[in-house]
Amino acid sequence: MGDWSDYFEDFPEENPANWVNGHFDPVLREKLNAEERLQAAANSELLGMIKKAKNETKARSLLITENCPQCGLDKLNTYKISKHFYLCECLECGIYGSGKSHYEALEKTNSALGEGLDWRDN
Ligand SMILES: [Zn+2]
Repeated sequence: MGDWSDYFEDFPEENPANWVNGHFDPVLREKLNAEERLQAAANSELLGMIKKAKNETKARSLLITENCPQCGLDKLNTYKISKHFYLCECLECGIYGSGKSHYEALEKTNSALGEGLDWRDN
């Protein structure tokens, strides 16, 4: 007796992967799977572009690097992303916060102490 792939080759209608909305349709299933793979590749490319754009924005909008309120290291970067959007991110421990001013972003960062936030998680 072979493995499942041999079995499904002999009995394709037994393979749940060949069914679409309750109908046995291996051709449509394969087409949908191919579309899903394309979509996943497109999503991954898009995420890469977003990440790159974010990194470039940060690189040109770094305002100041100061001591992090959580880990105490001189690794807390504050970015002035736009006139009314400031973002603090610690390169060491990952704590972050944002606000309409540098002060507000720092306050947000301070209020997140000990919550285990890490901007690199998303
Ligand atoms: Zn830190």
